[in-house]
Amino acid sequence: MPEMMAGALPVLEKLNSQGFEAVFVGGCVRDTIMGLHIHDVDIATAALPEQVMEIFPDSIPTGLQHGTITVRFQNELYEVTTFRTESEYEQHRRPAGVRFIASLEGDLLRRDLTINAMALMADGKLYDPFKGLLDIERRLIRCVGDADARFQEDALRMLRAVRFAAKFSYSFAYRTWRALRSHHHLLRHIAMERVMAELDQMIEGPRPAAAMKLLGASGLLQHTAKPLPALTDIQKNMRWDKLAELKPSLRWAALLAYSGATVGQTETTMESLRFPGRLKASVMAVIRLQLQMKHALAARSYSEENQLRREWTICVLEYGAEAAADWLEILILEESYPDFAMTFKQWLEEMPATVLKQLKIDGHALAQGVKRQPGSWMGSAMKRLLLAVAMQQLPNEPHRLLEQAKLWIAEDMTNDDE
Ligand code: ATP
Ligand code: MG
Repeated sequence: MPEMMAGALPVLEKLNSQGFEAVFVGGCVRDTIMGLHIHDVDIATAALPEQVMEIFPDSIPTGLQHGTITVRFQNELYEVTTFRTESEYEQHRRPAGVRFIASLEGDLLRRDLTINAMALMADGKLYDPFKGLLDIERRLIRCVGDADARFQEDALRMLRAVRFAAKFSYSFAYRTWRALRSHHHLLRHIAMERVMAELDQMIEGPRPAAAMKLLGASGLLQHTAKPLPALTDIQKNMRWDKLAELKPSLRWAALLAYSGATVGQTETTMESLRFPGRLKASVMAVIRLQLQMKHALAARSYSEENQLRREWTICVLEYGAEAAADWLEILILEESYPDFAMTFKQWLEEMPATVLKQLKIDGHALAQGVKRQPGSWMGSAMKRLLLAVAMQQLPNEPHRLLEQAKLWIAEDMTNDDE
């Protein structure tokens, strides 16, 4: 038994001693059997929520209407949920109301997959009425009971099934897969936030490519986002197997950057998936930068190194050093891993400044130095200085920056006179 569960054992024992059945359930039981690390402990009990609160006065009613009490015990928090059934499902979503019951088997019956419907008793015995252990041995994803009915009750279970199949590299039991193929369209009844939460775990999990393939093959993918990135296009454009090598925070950017969709379509996809604003902004920066750089690479010959360096520097200043570094990392997904990625990386690292505030002069000092009224000319002068510094054509020293600005102003005046 993992340390975390051993720590919670007295909670089970205390409930047991008061005459209430209490067991470990869900992910912690599954992961323990698989020999995986567990990240939290869920307890189920026959005690009603009020009874749990009476036995553990230092507890918080975190989800009272669902029967969940968070119990504090020796400074750890455990979720204790009363055995329950979920009877009335509406619109293919989890029900709002639940009914508390006395039977453990009844509680396990409402759970989604056999591997998630096992209970571990305080004495270490496994209660496994739906043969979850056998499915772990056979590496199978199987619904508890009738798969068609279970997916029709709550369509989110289909995404969960795919998530666990990909994560553990399990196959689907025949009927469970058949039910997925017939009911994928019910996913449209599920709130996009919940869909996104599942997708996020798949993309950031250990086998993102496997998850995407299963989403495509099951038919679920077409109900996840509008417009969805076409899987075939993504697969055509990138080294699918390399996705898992990227750090999780870059995987969405990579998928969308290689989806073959336009900038506008990608933006709509992210909106329909309710991407958080910051993620959306960082993905858009990478995509715009990629577009501009691909253009530059296609238009110029490699021998025009200085042109290419200028284009790269302009991109870094426009979209930020972070987006630039991110894009370089996702380049490993390209079929022909380009050697210019190394060059770009080196140029990026060599840039003495990539944002205005790194310049050793500010707009105010500039205006004073060149004896001009502050105005809109300052912005463009500062940007021009930054580009020259980033290109290493001009040292980032106050007097040199000022000198250069004066020169440009004088040139502009002569040009105006002509
Ligand atoms: P993990 O937390 O590692 O992703 P988990 O199995 O603990 O996996 P949770 O979402 O924490 O997943 O849910 C806890 C348990 O509740 C599950 O193991 C399963 O028994 C049950 N469960 C969760 N969501 C559903 C659902 N939509 N339908 C039926 N049972 C569910
Ligand atoms: Mg869990």
